[in-house]
Amino acid sequence: MGTFNNLIVEVVCASCSTRYKAGIQFKYAHTWLLDYRIGDKLEWFNERYDIGAPGKKLVKMYGVLGVEHCPQGCVVGEEEFDIILRNDVLESYRKIEKREDYLDGNGEYFVIEH
Ligand SMILES: [Zn+2]
Repeated sequence: MGTFNNLIVEVVCASCSTRYKAGIQFKYAHTWLLDYRIGDKLEWFNERYDIGAPGKKLVKMYGVLGVEHCPQGCVVGEEEFDIILRNDVLESYRKIEKREDYLDGNGEYFVIEH
């Protein structure tokens, strides 16, 4: 336990505008340091250990950027995201909108449509 997956995205440093690739960490499906990109379908392994359940129509997952410094050395604050999952496919991500949605449940994801 305690592991996560990565959604690899291009981010722009808020301080120096450097573009670089980084992982947004999330905990859903088979959670084993898997690297995904937008458009990928999540893998499931074992319902006892996987987080959530496969085949939901629309889910948002809590994501946090897994870097502390940009390649130029600027300090990166804790950036949080909603990652949108449709039929187990990674559809999009955005700055987090409602952190409370996650606090009510398991802390990692929120099923929008079953
Ligand atoms: Zn920077």
